[in-house]
Amino acid sequence: MDCLYCGYHNSKVIDSRDINDGIRRRRQCLKCDSRFTTYERLQPAGLFVIKKDARREEFNRDKLLTGIRKACEKRPLPSGTVDKVADDTEAELYRSGRLEVSSTVIGDMVMEKLCGLDHIAYLRFASVYREFTDITTLKEVVDTLVSGESVVPRPNQLSLLSPPTD
Ligand SMILES: [Zn+2]
Repeated sequence: MDCLYCGYHNSKVIDSRDINDGIRRRRQCLKCDSRFTTYERLQPAGLFVIKKDARREEFNRDKLLTGIRKACEKRPLPSGTVDKVADDTEAELYRSGRLEVSSTVIGDMVMEKLCGLDHIAYLRFASVYREFTDITTLKEVVDTLVSGESVVPRPNQLSLLSPPTD
């Protein structure tokens, strides 16, 4: 597993933990000391993401991580936050046992986590993911945050757990 930060090919395992269908390993790059997490799944089945335009693509943890990292850039968050949000989201997805999941469900899961951590990171992620097209929509979301209400709908566990509809 190459380092996600510098690409170096060697890392050491600093922690490993069984999760439902695999092993989660915390690794540290031997070159730049960055920490990242890998999953070794016991089930070979891949997880597919259904995009808004109905295209299907294999779940890509790096893409998820990149989106979260961008949203959290220069925010005063504890180190490891980006990884943890990605880890938790991925673990929830695999725990759900589904083979397919819509990108909307994944986005909602990430938004719910970010909303509890940092509102600026949340807004950045939401503005990309929800594709705010005008300032009014953005203002509505900010107003809702300011008034202390959560704007994130609870992730719809039913749609996450129900069988694929196709
Ligand atoms: Zn590295």
